[in-house]
Amino acid sequence: MAHVFEPASSGRSKCRGCGQPLQRGELRFGERVPNPFGEGEATLWFHPLCAAYKRPNALLEALAETTDEVPDREGLESAARKSLAHERLQRVDGAERSPTGQAKCRHCHEPIAKGSWRIRVVFYEEGRFAPGGYIHLACREAYFEVGGILEQILQFSPDLSDADREELSHACALSEAGPRP
Ligand SMILES: [Zn+2]
Ligand SMILES: [Zn+2]
Repeated sequence: MAHVFEPASSGRSKCRGCGQPLQRGELRFGERVPNPFGEGEATLWFHPLCAAYKRPNALLEALAETTDEVPDREGLESAARKSLAHERLQRVDGAERSPTGQAKCRHCHEPIAKGSWRIRVVFYEEGRFAPGGYIHLACREAYFEVGGILEQILQFSPDLSDADREELSHACALSEAGPRP
């Protein structure tokens, strides 16, 4: 079966991309994948934008096929194309303050200081996203090989407070302003 867009029939399903509930009546994207537990197919549900970032191929295929009205089709296409062009972007899973100083950055292999921002990385494997470690916020452009990814980071950081989102935006703006003295 082909991938689908459809309104969520209840408020009980969760987006595989960000982990947040898909509100009843909200348009959701269903990616059909081989059933990891046996015969047939399974459907992975996403917010369309979460799928654009994390499953761009499937989303673009579905957009090309559907004749339905999809809100912000252009925005979805451009997000998906960026994630396709820079494949590591599909691994972005939001940001958080490091609760300990134990994790090492997947890019530079240096420890990530307690309390500093880090970006979570996930790897898609057979219908699920497996945790793949962390990146220093400052290493993001070197690791993801592209800039301007704040919106994507925020999309997968639903647990951050408004104040935290503000601070994260500020930290990103600072480190995109050029090399620090
Ligand atoms: Zn989502
Ligand atoms: Zn690093």
